[in-house]
Amino acid sequence: MTSANLAPRLAIVGAGIVGLAHAVAALDAGYRVTVIEQDAVAVLASLRNFGHVGVSVQAGELGELAREALPLWWSLAERAGVEARRSGTLVVARSAAEEAVLQEFAAERAPEDARLLTGAEAARALHLDRVAATGAARPLAGLLLPRDLTADPRTAVARIAAWVHAHERGEVRFATTARGVGVGAVETSRGLVEADHVIVAAGHLVGRLFPELADRGGVRECALQMARVRAPHAMGIGPAVLTGTSMLRYGAFAGPALEALRAEIAAERPELLQIDANVMFTQQVDGTLIVGDSHAGHDTAPPFLDERWSQILLDEVAAVLGAPRLEVLERWQGVYATSRRQDILRVNPIPGVTAVSVTTGTGMTVGLAVGARTIAGL
Ligand SMILES: Cc1cc2nc3c(=O)[nH]c(=O)nc-3n(C[C@H](O)[C@H](O)[C@H](O)COP(=O)(O)OP(=O)(O)OC[C@H]3O[C@@H](n4cnc5c(N)ncnc54)[C@H](O)[C@@H]3O)c2cc1C
Repeated sequence: MTSANLAPRLAIVGAGIVGLAHAVAALDAGYRVTVIEQDAVAVLASLRNFGHVGVSVQAGELGELAREALPLWWSLAERAGVEARRSGTLVVARSAAEEAVLQEFAAERAPEDARLLTGAEAARALHLDRVAATGAARPLAGLLLPRDLTADPRTAVARIAAWVHAHERGEVRFATTARGVGVGAVETSRGLVEADHVIVAAGHLVGRLFPELADRGGVRECALQMARVRAPHAMGIGPAVLTGTSMLRYGAFAGPALEALRAEIAAERPELLQIDANVMFTQQVDGTLIVGDSHAGHDTAPPFLDERWSQILLDEVAAVLGAPRLEVLERWQGVYATSRRQDILRVNPIPGVTAVSVTTGTGMTVGLAVGARTIAGL
């Protein structure tokens, strides 16, 4: 018997970024790993996002996890061929209230972590010098966060799953649904998978397997409207771009200047607050832009995309880019797990089983570190 056959067995439900983060950490720690994924390819939150690994904009424990995740992304770029690039993040300010938030942010950071840009520099970073943009489109200021990454969301989880499956101690079983999880075993649609420990990384679907756990954790579905658009002018491959509504969303922008910004947006652009927008975009390897997003909480997210909501988001991104309109190539809805009770749900519903869901919409940023921490703690 080889040492690989004696290694402890781990079964993981879910081949999204969180399940695969656990799989990679467990393989590195010497486990035998079986990942069970209901779909033929993972197509839920981990495929539908911006791919923004926004380390600099997270605060508290999420900030710590995000910093731990950075080297893990680089390691997967090298080992699994994940397309991750140090894009940095550009936060654009288009009003004095937004600029004040950026100034507060930069004052608390080392210059190598956050650099304030003039309006002209921010315009150059968006390549607005190449378009006859209106004055309204010109940024007043910007903030460059050079540490952040963008990982290609269209290919990342598929490549990590392929790496896990190719590992001598790893296996990914697609098109296999976990119907029940018990002590030492997962009952699936294709038979029993035995394991010494089970990780349930089912994202917003955790309640299908453990409804009481999801109820206690206050887990709901957050639905987001997204689109992929053609870049309106030649942009090269640039940073992820955040705007004023992003400042309201991410913990690291919290500070005295934020309330004035919230009041400004409420007075001048109330529709952005009504759809709980985080107007942002990332650039894809083919140069197209993933733009979004709105947020709406549901017990079960309805499938319909509200065209008015899409137009609010698209108009806002077009204004940032000085474009009269954007050519939409694709639209979709993304759903992630959300909760008001905790940022990350990590509980042991029964002995030998750990359920892990990132309940903040930051799984691409923190997920790899969440997996590493769970495995280190087993
Ligand atoms: C539109 C959108 C934009 C986002 N943008 C960003 C971003 O830029 N940066 C960032 O950090 N985060 C972002 N997020 C959040 C991030 O995508 C999620 O936090 C993360 O993908 C969650 O990963 P997961 O593995 O928990 O969930 P998922 O990716 O949903 O994976 C769960 C998997 O479990 C499988 N599964 C569930 N139940 C079973 C079962 N019973 N049997 C077998 N398989 C099962 C599902 O099929 C699924 O593949 C965004 C999310 C969305 C929706």
